[in-house]
Amino acid sequence: MNCYYCGMPITNGSTFCQNCGRQVFSPNQNNTGYLTISRPKKFLGCAVAYKVYANGLLLGKVPNGQTVSFPLPYGVHNIFIRCGMGEGMTQITMNEQYPNIALYCPMELGLLKNKINFILIQSN
Ligand SMILES: [Zn+2]
Repeated sequence: MNCYYCGMPITNGSTFCQNCGRQVFSPNQNNTGYLTISRPKKFLGCAVAYKVYANGLLLGKVPNGQTVSFPLPYGVHNIFIRCGMGEGMTQITMNEQYPNIALYCPMELGLLKNKINFILIQSN
């Protein structure tokens, strides 16, 4: 088995990846949900991808106007998005009752710092 995040081989029975330190999990396991981030298409800031983090670890990127799903193990996750001068944070709880959490994340332009908003659009 290889690490879901960094791709390095994982010793059987390990709880954490020896290479990147992240918790070992497989998206095929039963205790896995999906976080879906939808980003509206906007002219301003369009060249920069949203960087999506869960508990401080980079999950991946969401380009302008796109929707991307990231597998996550059940549990409480602090979700952080950064995009150039913009950022936003929220907390989600993923479990058997709510394995799929979808967030609509528009960016609100400010004078000094842009704010990324989190709007729950689906949870079941
Ligand atoms: Zn790893």
